[in-house]
Amino acid sequence: LGGSLRGALKKIASASRIDKQVVDEAVREIQRALLQADVNVKLVMNLSNRIRDRALSEKPAPGMNPREHVINIVYQELINLVGKSSPVTLEKQTIMLVGLQGSGKTTTAAKLATFFQRKGLRSAVVCADTFRAGAFDQLKALCEKQGVFFYGEKGNPDAPAVARRGLEASRKYDIVIVDTAGRHALEKDLIQEMMDIDAVVAADHKLLVMDAALGQQASEQAKAFNKAVGITGVIITKLDGTAKGGGAMSAVAETNSSVAFIGVGETPNDLERFEADRFISRLLGMGDIKTLIERAQETKVEEEVDVEALMRGKFTLKDMCKQMEAINKMGPLKQIMQMLPLGGMGLDLSDQEYQVTKDRLEKYRVIMSSMTEAELEDPKIITASRIKRISRGSGTPPELVRELLKSHKAMQKALKGMRGMNKMGMKRM
Ligand code: GDP
Ligand code: MG
Repeated sequence: LGGSLRGALKKIASASRIDKQVVDEAVREIQRALLQADVNVKLVMNLSNRIRDRALSEKPAPGMNPREHVINIVYQELINLVGKSSPVTLEKQTIMLVGLQGSGKTTTAAKLATFFQRKGLRSAVVCADTFRAGAFDQLKALCEKQGVFFYGEKGNPDAPAVARRGLEASRKYDIVIVDTAGRHALEKDLIQEMMDIDAVVAADHKLLVMDAALGQQASEQAKAFNKAVGITGVIITKLDGTAKGGGAMSAVAETNSSVAFIGVGETPNDLERFEADRFISRLLGMGDIKTLIERAQETKVEEEVDVEALMRGKFTLKDMCKQMEAINKMGPLKQIMQMLPLGGMGLDLSDQEYQVTKDRLEKYRVIMSSMTEAELEDPKIITASRIKRISRGSGTPPELVRELLKSHKAMQKALKGMRGMNKMGMKRM
C-alpha cells in the first residue's frame, strides 16, 4: 500500500496546481492501492469519493501547497477510517479476546498482559479456550514466562464455567484478559458458546483479533462477531509481515470501533499501542520516527542510543557497532528500519544486513580491534591491501571485513537519507 500511495502522492507533488485530472489520477492510484491491500470495495469507493470531492472543493489552508493539501486530506480520511486512537485506556478492566482460529488471540493475550504489566498494572489471563487441545499449555507457558497470573482448567470443556471461576480467581488483579477459542462466523455452536462466555465475563472491552492478512472476508466476519458480542476495538496482528491490514480496516468500519493495538511479531513484547497518525504515516511512507524514538527510550540499554547523532548522520565504524548493539536490543533491525522515513529510504539491505546478530557483532568487534584509529574514524581509507592486513590480523576472512565495510556504507547512506527527509517532511510529524 505504501509504495503505490507514495507514487500517487508523488504525482501530485510535481503538479503546480490541483486540477481535476491530477486528483482523479491520484485517487485512482489510491483506490488501486487500497483494493490491493484488501480494503472492502464499498469502503474504498466511499473513501475515494470523499477525497476527490474535498481535494477539489476545499481551499488549501494558507501556506499549504497543492501537494500538502491533498496529502492532508488523504491522511485525514484514512485516519477517519481506522479510528483516531486506541479505545483501550490504562484503567482496571476486563478484556475478552475473540476472533478466528490462528488470528493470534492467545499470543495477544500474553502480549496484552505484558503491556499492562510494563505500565505498572497487575495482569491476569484466563484461558477460556476449552476447544483446541493445547490451548491451555500454550497460554500457561506464555504467562509463566512473563510472570503473569494464569487461570485455566485443563480438560474441562465448559468454557463459561471456567471463565467464571477464572474471573473469581483474578479478582485482585487490575487487568483480566480472557482468551477464547477461535471460531468462524458460521459456526453456530461456537458463536453461542462465545455469547455464553460474554454473558459471564461482561468484559469492558471485547477486542476482535484479526490477522493483517485477512482479506475481503474481514467485513463479514467482523459483522458476525459484532452482532454476537459487540466489538469495542480491533487488534491487527502480524503487521510485521507483508500484509497491510486492509481487512482490519474494513472490520473497524463495520463495527464502528477503532484499532486498539497492533501485533508486530511473535514475542510477548511485540505489541504496540495503536495510534492512527503513526499507522497512516507508515502507510503513506512518511516514516515513523516517533515510534522509533519512543522505543529507544523504553528499551533499557546500557549504551544509550543517540538518536540525535543518528539523525545528524555522524557515523564512524565505532558508532556503527554501538548503534547495532543498541538497535539489536530494541528489536529486529528490519522492523526498526521500517519505521524510518520511507521504510529506510527504500534502501535495499539484504536480510543478512538486517540481521545484526550478537554473533556477527562479536566478529565485527574482533575485526575492528585489528584496525587503526584512523581507519575506525574514516573507513574510506581502507584499501584492498589494508583489508588483507586487517583480515590476517584479526584471523577473519577478508569477505567478512568487506561485509562490515559494506554494512557501514549502507547504514551511512540510510542516515544521510534520513537527514534529507528530516529537513523536508518531518515538520508534519
Ligand atoms: P489463536 O488461534 O487466535 O489463539 O492464535 P495464536 O495466538 O495461537 O497465534 C497463531 C500464530 O500466529 C502463532 O504462530 C503466533 O506466533 C503467530 N502470531 C500471532 N501474532 C503475531 C504477530 O503479530 N506477528 C507474527 N509474525 N506472528 C504472530
Ligand atoms: Mg488460541
